[in-house]
Amino acid sequence: MSETLANLSSETRQFPPPEQVAADANVKAEAYEEAAADRLAFWATQADRLTWAKKWDQVLDWSNPPFAKWFVGGELNIAYNCVDRHVEAGHGDKVAIHWEGEPGDTRTITYADLLKLVSQAANTLTGLGVGAGDRVAIYMPMIPEAAVAMLACARIGATHSVVFGGFSVDALSTRIKDADAKLVITADGGYRRGKPSALKPTVDEAVAQCPSIENVLVVRRTGQEVAWTDKDKWWHETVEQAGAEHKAQAFDAEHPLFILYTSGTTGKPKGILHTTGGYLTQTSWTHHAVFDLKPETDVYWCTADIGWVTGHSYIVYGPLSNGATQVMYEGTPDTPGRDRFWQIVDKYKVSILYTAPTLIRTMMKWGDDIPAGYDLSSLRILGSVGEPINPEAWMWYRKNIGHDKTPVVDTWWQTETGGVMISPLPGVTAAKPGSAMTALPGITADVVDDQAQSVPNGGGGFLVLRDPWPSMLRTIWGDDKRFIDTYWSRFGAGAGTGDDWIYFAGDGAKKDDDGAIWLLGRVDDVMLISGHNISTTEVESALVSHPSVAEAAVVGATDPTTGQAIVAFVIPRGNVDTEGDAGEKLNVDLRNHVAKTLGPIAKPRQIMLVPELPKTRSGKIMRRLLKDVAERRSLGDVTTLQDSAVMDLISSGMKNTK
Ligand code: ATP
Ligand code: MG
Repeated sequence: MSETLANLSSETRQFPPPEQVAADANVKAEAYEEAAADRLAFWATQADRLTWAKKWDQVLDWSNPPFAKWFVGGELNIAYNCVDRHVEAGHGDKVAIHWEGEPGDTRTITYADLLKLVSQAANTLTGLGVGAGDRVAIYMPMIPEAAVAMLACARIGATHSVVFGGFSVDALSTRIKDADAKLVITADGGYRRGKPSALKPTVDEAVAQCPSIENVLVVRRTGQEVAWTDKDKWWHETVEQAGAEHKAQAFDAEHPLFILYTSGTTGKPKGILHTTGGYLTQTSWTHHAVFDLKPETDVYWCTADIGWVTGHSYIVYGPLSNGATQVMYEGTPDTPGRDRFWQIVDKYKVSILYTAPTLIRTMMKWGDDIPAGYDLSSLRILGSVGEPINPEAWMWYRKNIGHDKTPVVDTWWQTETGGVMISPLPGVTAAKPGSAMTALPGITADVVDDQAQSVPNGGGGFLVLRDPWPSMLRTIWGDDKRFIDTYWSRFGAGAGTGDDWIYFAGDGAKKDDDGAIWLLGRVDDVMLISGHNISTTEVESALVSHPSVAEAAVVGATDPTTGQAIVAFVIPRGNVDTEGDAGEKLNVDLRNHVAKTLGPIAKPRQIMLVPELPKTRSGKIMRRLLKDVAERRSLGDVTTLQDSAVMDLISSGMKNTK
């Protein structure tokens, strides 16, 4: 991006909070004032929501930027905060996890049950020679033991590295090697799309290449046959037989809690390191604030996988530290039928739902009648994360899932930020469909030009964070230089200009006339069309606003006349005819629709109607691969792709077009 992003679309719809939500909200408008008056005092107050074994001496040490230390000198145990303290407060019988297996089997785990399991797992890990500072790889399906394993590591001070249970041998072994892990916790398999899907063979192959691994702890989930080596131990023969007493020891606020590799949308994944006190402070408070969780009455459900940061912060650490009752689901949204999500919401009376735009668009594609068949009236807050949510998808979500009354919170954050950074507050903000609105109290987000100057309202540019925040990444594991180069060398002190250290998120954004922030996709994805910087997101949202379109991905492909030209990959809605002439006509209609919505500059050169889009495991569109296709190059790194067959489908379609 040479200058600023063109600002093509505008949105006038706005939805203030329902009166009751506003009146009862956990966090009200005053929080913004408090934080603006004294940011560090504000975060100290939020840290006080946790139980500390030793109080900190200093809220933030920023004397060696960009390496931050939060709550310096403080000590706490994360598992104690997520489990023990709720039991000690008399909530042992409260349900922590309503677990729903894909085949329909269920488990109900109370906080007392969780305490027992986590204590047993902690004793087992200690017995296997794992101690504070050691790394443990977790490669699991979405079963309660995944959360137990994470909490057990946290309890003994071992640093976990969760690897999505579905990544390849190569992805798993590189992550094990990068972190030099000692133990793998896994399962025989999990259920996906109606059948057992094996995990253990992948672990076996990966471990064979990783001499650092001393033991492999295996949960029996599917009962499928597994090969066995002398490193392998069954979970039910160790953890479930272990003593249920375990005294949690407090760790330093900066003790390494976990390493998590980013989803790899833009390139080789980075091992993001998070630590203890600041991370839990922000994930806990944001969960309380953004979802307005009332632990006594709410049933919360985050549909993310535990292998993604959303699963870490908003299935495990945030909700459990707040004593939430939550749903955890093992399988896919279309098993056994496309109504599975709504059936679960209805069954458990879910009141807070947190999901991703990719799923919302998929549900749109499947049709409104599916959610309409269920009682979704328990829902009171809806959340979105992972990608920009197209305004029409936001409207569909609110109308068809939120019966036209629930606030929708579009939460912007990253693996690197650890917790939510930009989001509406459901009891305060009058949200606009498609905007993450403004930075949360205590967070300083800005949109700047290439000189790091704040753009005025109405302008577009780079999203940056001007001040350190508690749950910020501390470094890239083993690679401080890459940490500085990637995030701190674009603007400010890290770039050798100015005194301030400015974090560059890698995303483009704009401020609308009211100062609300609109995320415009990755800076790497921004297109340069006849000298104008145009965001992929705005063109995609224009396409999705056409009634025949379910999903769209847009890339800038090299073009002899315009520098780059817009190539769009579009998935039509289920009922749309795309054969022969109908397809040709739709193609023309869509190109005109974009030109009409955003102006002629944004008119795609070419539209490909496709059955699927390449996505990461966390559901993000991988535009760099589509760009390879559009420019007829061989494909880059596809290891984090959900389904590599999709690329063959798209590439072969592309070969047939001129
Ligand atoms: P990599 O950094 O390896 O390319 P990744 O960025 O996809 O992978 P994550 O940390 O999971 O990995 O994703 C964070 C990114 O997701 C953000 O930088 C942003 O581009 C996008 N994102 C997340 N939430 C939102 C949101 N609410 N609105 C817009 N974009 C979002
Ligand atoms: Mg990223």
